[in-house]
Amino acid sequence: MTWSLEEADKTYGVSKWGAGHFSINDSGQLAVIPNKEFPSQDIAIKDVVDEMISQGVSFPVVIRFHDILRAQVRTLNKTFDDIIDEASYNGKFFGVYPVKVNQMREVVEEIVEAGQRYNFGLEAGSKAELLSVLAYNTNENSLTILNGYKDEDYLRLALLGCKLGRKIVVVIEKFSELTKLISLCEETGVRPIIGIRSRMTVKGRGKWESSGGDKAKFGLTISEIINAVELLKGKELLDCLKLFHFHIGSQITDIRAIKEAIAEGGRIYCKLSQLGVDLEYFDVGGGLGVDYDGTASTNDSSINYQLDEYVADIVYGLKQICDLEGVGHPNIITESGRALTAHHSCVITNIIGEIDTSSVSFDTQAIEGESHLVSNMREAEEEFDKLKNWQEVYNDTVKFKEDSLNAFKLGILSLVERAKIETIYWRILKKVAKYISKNEINFEQGEELEEFLSGQYLCNFSVFQSAADSWAIDQILPVVPIDRLEKKPTKRCSLVDITCDSDGKIDKFISDEEGIKKTIPVHELDKEPYYLGIFLTGAYQDVMGDMHNLFGRLNEVHVYAHEQDSKGFYIEEVIKGSSAENVLSTMQYNPQYMAFTIKKAIDLQIREGNLNPRQGVKLTDFYEDCLRSYTYLK
Ligand SMILES: *Cc1c(COP(=O)(O)O)cnc(C)c1O
Repeated sequence: MTWSLEEADKTYGVSKWGAGHFSINDSGQLAVIPNKEFPSQDIAIKDVVDEMISQGVSFPVVIRFHDILRAQVRTLNKTFDDIIDEASYNGKFFGVYPVKVNQMREVVEEIVEAGQRYNFGLEAGSKAELLSVLAYNTNENSLTILNGYKDEDYLRLALLGCKLGRKIVVVIEKFSELTKLISLCEETGVRPIIGIRSRMTVKGRGKWESSGGDKAKFGLTISEIINAVELLKGKELLDCLKLFHFHIGSQITDIRAIKEAIAEGGRIYCKLSQLGVDLEYFDVGGGLGVDYDGTASTNDSSINYQLDEYVADIVYGLKQICDLEGVGHPNIITESGRALTAHHSCVITNIIGEIDTSSVSFDTQAIEGESHLVSNMREAEEEFDKLKNWQEVYNDTVKFKEDSLNAFKLGILSLVERAKIETIYWRILKKVAKYISKNEINFEQGEELEEFLSGQYLCNFSVFQSAADSWAIDQILPVVPIDRLEKKPTKRCSLVDITCDSDGKIDKFISDEEGIKKTIPVHELDKEPYYLGIFLTGAYQDVMGDMHNLFGRLNEVHVYAHEQDSKGFYIEEVIKGSSAENVLSTMQYNPQYMAFTIKKAIDLQIREGNLNPRQGVKLTDFYEDCLRSYTYLK
């Protein structure tokens, strides 16, 4: 098959998962399209990488495309506004961004700014997040929604926000929070907007389905909701209860779950209104998914719907129920985080080398008196070379390998003989694999054989830091070489990271055929550096990383599109990743003391005459340099 850019796009699924923000340019480079309305104004990621290298920023690196973030905010708001218009729906859209999805200040600031003219707000789920949203959502017309379990300080902070004139909504997740809130309202005289989170019987399907359903961690049952209404009425606070909330899980893969949630939630909303509760807002939570694997299916890493359909299902679904029940149309709130942020950032890693046990070279010449096991293996190879009777040779080879391992364990085979057998063994398997692929032979174990023979590319990053969900919940993330796509990738391999953990690997990839593959097509390594991008990491992955092996945070570059620039972009900011001293400090070490201890030990060696003073100073400096340096490989 001849290779083409179309072929490259198909192989890596770029136009499928890229959602119009990624494409392959004419030079075979992966490009970002910051603004979908102007697809010709693209930015080659390789150009960003080159500029970043010239500024001395080392790998691995997170690249943030802030224009994508802004575009996602605009698209979500515009889609709601348009469909609300089209449906003659009487309520408005008041979306919020849940900061837990990516709390980076720059991300939150960008979203707030892009959302300003839509009165797009923020959502917090913990005290620390609340502290940040109080400081960053200063728009008095947008909402600040407070979810998560709340203690007295949390509630007092919320009331502080009310005093600042913000539209703070305290969402009651658990009945006891309501009694706490009521007594604080009585004490301070502040009347916040109160929301109630309902425990829904509908479950989102997929990895987060336990966020909904009768056994969910959060939310009030119907009887608790009725009791809450009575309690508020008794305290003359019922007019504060303005918002009805649910959240059935993140990454809802099947649109049917959303339809069902609207049907159930819409009825509860209407029945409460009919009971005399003056509700104004209907908050459908998060769940708007991202098509990570590009299959547009109900796979865990995909979604079977588009934004338009999601929005239309909410707007039209709610309208129909409200009209039937004779209740006014509420304002609509979504708490979409994943869909807003996933596309805006990626991780670029450089390949350090290849691990390939099958390509060791070792002299396999026959020698006098060698074990017949070695001769058998050699003859199998000759047999294949002559007759290409691959099936028989394959079976023999596997058998001979097994026999020779047993012989080795019994002490009958020498180390050198074992090395020869293994070398010929790998050689035969490779020849067979090549033969069946070239002749398109249908071999049951063909794929297994290919995977068995594939090497691993060693990537300068940590899965635990940069792709936590790939490790924890088998999330698929698109991986693509950022250039050379005009050339056909000639081999397949899986990826391993530089942690010393055998789980530190990526071996689930999008494939252009059915299903997920354990290996990804790559180019041969040569003298030029080879870079792979891991994409759609802007939601959760960016901020969930842990300290495994003390690698810590990555260097970051923030990129903005700029039409007049010859490359179409500029790097607005570089944020340095963790140094060894940063990560050690978080684990209670004192880097200064460590350097002092090493210096003392070196001084002792000098006094004892084992080191000369110049060598000593060099070693001391070297240790201190390493403390100050980036934690990843140079
Ligand atoms: C996590 C969370 C969200 C965000 O969900 P996404 O699927 O990322 O949009 C929204 N609301 C609540 C209550 C959450 O816990």
